[in-house]
Order: sequence, then C-alpha cells, then structure tokens
Amino acid sequence: MSAKITRFAPSPTGHLHIGHAASALLAAEMGDEFILRIEDIDRTRCKPEYEASIYEDMSWLGLDYPQPVRRQSDHFNDYAAILQRLADMGLLYPCFCTRKEIEEEIARSPSAPHGPDGFLYPRTCTTLSLSEKEDRMASGEHYALRLDVNEALHRTGALKWHDAVKGWQEATPQLLGDVVLARKDTPASYHLCVTHDDDLQNITLITRGEDLFHATHIHCLLQNILGYDRPAYHHHPLLTDKDGKKFSKRDKSLTIREIRNKGFSASQLRDIIHSQNFLTLLNP
Ligand code: GLU
Repeated sequence: MSAKITRFAPSPTGHLHIGHAASALLAAEMGDEFILRIEDIDRTRCKPEYEASIYEDMSWLGLDYPQPVRRQSDHFNDYAAILQRLADMGLLYPCFCTRKEIEEEIARSPSAPHGPDGFLYPRTCTTLSLSEKEDRMASGEHYALRLDVNEALHRTGALKWHDAVKGWQEATPQLLGDVVLARKDTPASYHLCVTHDDDLQNITLITRGEDLFHATHIHCLLQNILGYDRPAYHHHPLLTDKDGKKFSKRDKSLTIREIRNKGFSASQLRDIIHSQNFLTLLNP
C-alpha cells in the first residue's frame, strides 16, 4: 500500500485551541508523512503572531513536519493561474452583488433554496449580458468570481468521494451553490487554495473537522475539473464542551498556549483529548 500523507492546515486567525490539537494529533497519527501548511489567504484576519504561535504549539505538542512550510499567502500567483484555467474553461462568472443585495433577493423569493451553510446564491448575475459584465468590470466596480457549479458538474458527471467515518458519498456540490472562488480583498478562496495545495503536496488522506464535510463536495468537483487525484477523507467529530457547544478560538482558556501556561504537559493534553475529560482543563 502507498504511504499515507496527511496534513494539518490551520489559519493563523487566532491561537490554536484544544480542537486544533486533537485535529493535528489525529493527522500526525494517521500519516506515514505529516505536513503542516499555513492557510493565511485572508489578509485581513491572519496575523504573523498567530502563525508564530502555531509553530510554538506544534513543537510543544511534539509534532514534526518537513521544512519549508508552505504559506499560502506566498503563492497568490499560483492561485491566479488556476483561476485563469477555470475562467478559460468558461466555469467562472463575475458577481457584482453585495451581501445586502443577495439577502434582499432571497427575501423576495421565500422558496429560495438553501444548503447546509445557509441560503444559496440565487445566481442573479448569471442573467447579465456579456457587454454588461464587461462594462461593469471595466468601470472598476467590485466583483467576486463564482464557480458555475451546475455547468462544472454537467461536464464531470456524477462524482464520488470516500469518508472514513461516513463511507462513500455522492458529491453534491450544488448544496453549496455557486461558491465564490475569488474576490477583491481575498484574491483566492479557501476552496480553490486548499484543493490546489492538497494536490501539489500529494496529500493522500485529508483529516479535518466535520464542519468541513460539505466543503468536500466542492473540492471533489474542483479536483475533477482540474485533473487532480482524489485523496481519501476522514472528517472527525468536533470537540465540544459539556453543553455540546464546539470549542473555538474565542474560548481563550482552551487555547494550547493557555493550557501550557497552566502547567499541563503535552502528554497530559493527549490523555485529556483521548479520554474527552475536558473539565480537568477548566478546573486544574
Ligand atoms: N484552514 C482551514 C481552517 O483553519 C482548514 C482547512 C482544511 O483542513 O481543509 O479552518
């Protein structure tokens, strides 16, 4: 059997918390080779001090990874080239709608379909004529580039992917609608960069939280369109507190750095994650 290559791909938008530790440990445990990647395309939310804290946390957790670490913000040219490929295939269209306009449009049509992440973009801008699109783009008006999911799916035909927890899945990217693949302030989206980088880094098993389960439908579509291999997936349940609320970067007391400052060792943290006995962390 070929070697399993896994990765942990955090975004430096805050200090890593216990959920990230669980996710990184799982990826490292499952991989014959384990890669760290910094997903910092959102230049408004990502901060160098959080990236530095990721390296500190990884080293405290005892996780090793090959150098140099790929930092997505160093590769916007690569993502622009992929966007161009998709544009040349006729699979992108400009969308000039503001969030408010989309909400208003949806409010006008109460039967508007919605997916797991909320209402779907009602494809308003697909009705614009070519000249109208060109004029508005030339005038400097802000726009996003959306993936024409139905057209892409029409070209690929039915697709399947495998999740270690839930088994074979028929890809249903239409559940997320025409996702944004680029906008002015973020010139490449998570979906585009993650799919590209997982292929570039030969990731064969993607382990990540089940909050990204539906995103995989889109990634699967992009993989087929772009001629990438399909990795296997393992979407793990998210760690939750005793009320079932998932831990997030906002829960300051459960950041890895805070846990370390409280005097816990990395092996104690591993035991706590395995036993799910998180109260120990809150009341040491
Ligand atoms: N960068 C994403 C995050 O921090 C995770 C991406 C992934 O694992 O696919 O939420």
